[in-house]
Amino acid sequence: MIDIDIADIIDNFLEEESRPKTVGVYFPSESGMCMRRSYYSYISPKPTDKAALRIFALGNNVHSFIAEALKSSDVFSYVEEEKPLKIEYKDSDTVFNVYGRIDDYVITKDTNKKIIIEAKSVGEINKINEPEPKHVMQLMLYLGAEQADYGLLVYADKKNLNIRQFRVDYDDEMYNKVIGRFKDLDLHLKNKRLPPAEFYFDPKKSWECKYCPYFNDCMQAIANEQ
Ligand code: SF4
Repeated sequence: MIDIDIADIIDNFLEEESRPKTVGVYFPSESGMCMRRSYYSYISPKPTDKAALRIFALGNNVHSFIAEALKSSDVFSYVEEEKPLKIEYKDSDTVFNVYGRIDDYVITKDTNKKIIIEAKSVGEINKINEPEPKHVMQLMLYLGAEQADYGLLVYADKKNLNIRQFRVDYDDEMYNKVIGRFKDLDLHLKNKRLPPAEFYFDPKKSWECKYCPYFNDCMQAIANEQ
């Protein structure tokens, strides 16, 4: 009889990777997230469920594969995977940092173009006809913090590695909007004020509430607000 459970070993390994969050330290992947959900993840974090952790792990494998392919290509003179990024924000109201890692930072050999690549793995590439706004926001943060000519959002289908890519150019207004959202989140956290239930009241985004680990807390808060 086999008394080891590989699925359990995988789940334990993935759980060990999770870390608690600190107010004042934010992450680029939260750029376009529902602000209330981000808030809850700081003040009453819930462990990410096992199914979601496994999906993230698969996504990371796809990213590693793309990085290896970039490194092996003659098109680039330089490829840096997981380039560390730090944005220090300070004004008269608050101070905070945004820490992240750029999936891939590359320089083309022939034209010396500096390009930031953000890879996203998806379940069905044929549904991706345009970049998702939250991914554009994340990439905009990188473009504002690093010197680059442009960004590329690369969607990869987890089933077959079919790819769709979209060019993203730096836009000062959008960069400031993204930083402004982090400032807003920061002030809500430091003043212990629950942000609005952004996604629940947005018909284009409310479907995400179904997958939100804070759904019950949020619905209770909405009921209390009425
Ligand atoms: S349930 Fe929806 S609105 Fe509420 S925190 Fe989660 S994502 Fe935001």
